[in-house]
Amino acid sequence: MLFVLPDLPYAKDALAPVISAKTLDFHHGKHHQAYIDNTNKLIAGTELENQTLEAIIQATANDPKRVGIFNNAAQVWNHSFYWQCIKPGGGGKPTGPVAERIERDFGSVDAFAGAFKEAGLTQFGSGWAWLVERDGKLEIMKTSNADTPLAHGIKALLTVDVWEHAYYLDYQNRRGDYLTEFIAKLINWDFVNEQLAK
Ligand code: MN
Repeated sequence: MLFVLPDLPYAKDALAPVISAKTLDFHHGKHHQAYIDNTNKLIAGTELENQTLEAIIQATANDPKRVGIFNNAAQVWNHSFYWQCIKPGGGGKPTGPVAERIERDFGSVDAFAGAFKEAGLTQFGSGWAWLVERDGKLEIMKTSNADTPLAHGIKALLTVDVWEHAYYLDYQNRRGDYLTEFIAKLINWDFVNEQLAK
């Protein structure tokens, strides 16, 4: 059973000008596809080949002999999650149950937005910033390279990709501008609420 690239849940030009069709062409069509192809190749003929993606990630996390499998499988999961975290006309104020949880655990929506942006800005090199739920509390988390909350038994609610391939064609070195636009215009709060309810 091979993993396949999931379709984007919107048209390729639907996120412009925040994220251009050109970025999505490369990011979804080339980078995400490559992580999927590499995962399929690396698990072929091993005991992992009929496992779920989540099981593969958990089995290879912290295993130095299988770091290549972990890196590719975790990037498959992170990207599939990232596409669903955004939508055309999203962003702005949270809605539903997550809005109350953000007020309770961060003090305000602005405090959450500031902390989420700061995590993305201060992730040195490639990685991800996250909103997660840990021990019943919402928190900001950042991970390097392919690392993912799933590998730490932590529930992910929202992520932003801060690898340069996610924003460089549209923003060059201005990672902060990408994060500001992402928060203001793209976050799919319905998806975040679905994760919270799981
Ligand atoms: Mn990426």
